Amino acid sequence: MAILFVSDVHLSAVRPDIVSSFTRFLQGHARGADALYILGDLFDEWLGDDDNRPPHPQIVDALSGLTASGVPVHVMRGNHDFLLGDRFAFLSGCSLLDDGVVADLYGTPALLMHGDSLCTRDTEYQAFRKTSRDPANQQAFLALPLETRAAQAAEIRGRSAASVRLKTDEIMDVTPGAVVQAMRAHGVTHLIHGHTHRPAVHDMDLGGIGGKRIVLGDWYEQDSVLCWTPEGFHLGRMDDLR
Ligand code: MN
Repeated sequence: MAILFVSDVHLSAVRPDIVSSFTRFLQGHARGADALYILGDLFDEWLGDDDNRPPHPQIVDALSGLTASGVPVHVMRGNHDFLLGDRFAFLSGCSLLDDGVVADLYGTPALLMHGDSLCTRDTEYQAFRKTSRDPANQQAFLALPLETRAAQAAEIRGRSAASVRLKTDEIMDVTPGAVVQAMRAHGVTHLIHGHTHRPAVHDMDLGGIGGKRIVLGDWYEQDSVLCWTPEGFHLGRMDDLR
């Protein structure tokens, strides 16, 4: 029995090796899981459910194979694929998960987030997040031809990369106060998120009671997987799984 978590796979045609190792994961290790949670940035760029550029159709097929085999797959949107929508969910058989839901992990309630909303010191990004999540803005963007959307996305990514280079590690990480606040608001002592690409298990002192913040790594180098069983959890790599 195991519930598996991944995040920040960043699937893209420019990294075919990641596409094939993730496909192998969906067709192999994930088949025996009680559930698979994907906590955001599965795709490096998803510009709407009509975005059928490679490797998207191949991944939707692989997800559909996994869900058809009886494994529930829950997909959270990240800051690279926040336009994942109902058509994707239908074709893949996945369910879309809101950012900031509590899941019951064999009796342990854990808050699941992508993690970008916790980086509150990056005010420039939070302003972009707010605008880009606005339903009216999304509707207007999705009405544009795919090539126009791709050109706009490339421009935004270029600007963002330039400004990220000027930001400190601290600004780019989660804000400790925002973490505690989110956990308290949801009444949990466990938080699982990705986004920062800094895999770790952080022990937390929540005013005398112990808490844990588990950060998933990305799939550029690490194929990071969190495996949660009734006996405990292990944050490691795909090939650690049996
Ligand atoms: Mn992210």
